[in-house]
Amino acid sequence: MASLVTLEEAQQQVLARVRPLAAEPVAVAEAAGRVTAQEVRARVDLPPFPSSAMDGFAVRSSDLPGRLRIAGESAAGSPHVAAVEPGCAVAISTGAVVPDGADAVAPVEAVVQSDNTVDIWRSLEPGAHIRPRGGDVAAGDLVAPAGAWLTPVRLAAAAASGAAELSCRRRPRVVVLATGSELAAPGEALRPGQIYETNSLMLSAALAAGAEVSSGPPVADDEPALREAIERGLAADVLVTSGGVSVGEHDLVRTVEAELGVEEVFWRVAVKPGKPVSFGVRGNTLVFGLPGNPVSSLVGCELFVKPALRALQGLSDPLPRYEPGRLAAPLRRSEDRDEFVRARSRLNHDVLVLEPVVGQESHMIVRAGAADALVHVPRGNGELPAGSTVRWLRLDRF
Ligand code: AMP
Ligand code: MG
Repeated sequence: MASLVTLEEAQQQVLARVRPLAAEPVAVAEAAGRVTAQEVRARVDLPPFPSSAMDGFAVRSSDLPGRLRIAGESAAGSPHVAAVEPGCAVAISTGAVVPDGADAVAPVEAVVQSDNTVDIWRSLEPGAHIRPRGGDVAAGDLVAPAGAWLTPVRLAAAAASGAAELSCRRRPRVVVLATGSELAAPGEALRPGQIYETNSLMLSAALAAGAEVSSGPPVADDEPALREAIERGLAADVLVTSGGVSVGEHDLVRTVEAELGVEEVFWRVAVKPGKPVSFGVRGNTLVFGLPGNPVSSLVGCELFVKPALRALQGLSDPLPRYEPGRLAAPLRRSEDRDEFVRARSRLNHDVLVLEPVVGQESHMIVRAGAADALVHVPRGNGELPAGSTVRWLRLDRF
């Protein structure tokens, strides 16, 4: 066991090999889920003009309280209207330009309106119900830093401040390749010795939010077939294989990769499940060899592949984001391996409680399918008692 690389070392070695991908211009309408390659700065003031926060009447606050003559209207989207003269009010809608001369808006609920006059029997502070020009952002100010996910709200911020196009990192191209002579495609009748292939499906789905993923049919444990498929996969930014990286006679992935010029950075990490995971590089291509047991593949994907994809897109904080929770049941620690236990999360009076699922073996993908959490059990002695605070990863987001 002493020869295994630790989880932390392995993750650092992956990140050390990542070169962020090139930047490309992307229309804001296409940029959801992308990562900024340059900081985004406001091109316009927002609001671009003093605008009304209410439907009502634009007035001079020094005229209040009083009866004012309605001298016109400023509707949202209309260009600038005539100034508000002393003793006058201009009907105004939310988001419309506040006319010159006015320094407050009387909300429609606070006035009594007749044909061409309006009674406002209260005073208003200067500035009342007016959104000043540039109150949200001033032209030139920072809207988003480089290396930021374009979440829906960030995208809206960029568009609101005048961006039409954003400089984003290219999305990584990922090839997912399942290996194993026993693997049958969904819908096929299982022949003796076969099981249904799950990993290419699972990994493709897990990575789709952060990459352009392609995957083909599973490849048999056969050197020429593997060589051809792996060589093709090495043209991508990231090649993710599943299966064939253990110590069995038919585990040929690492041998074939070495023949094809992949420089192995590590093999076997002190994690459970997922120990036989391998990582290497050829040129700028990152090569992950995930173990075939489906839960091992899942854990390797979360711990190594996703962080690499985030780093390729220039995110400053690419490692998995753990959340705090409390164990519902005790968990035994493994002396020399960090363990990732599948669990269901639930809220109990505002405390997030994690209930390990029954069936923690690495081939038990259906048991794992009931989980929404991977609980980190750090290597060490003894057990984590029920009620311990632990950190965990969500299985339901990128
Ligand atoms: P391996 O890592 O190739 O030794 O495979 C370990 C276990 O995972 C074996 O029981 C395989 O049948 C199973 N396995 C490998 N690849 C897949 C896959 N793509 N889908 C489902 N099970 C797999
Ligand atoms: Mg195999």
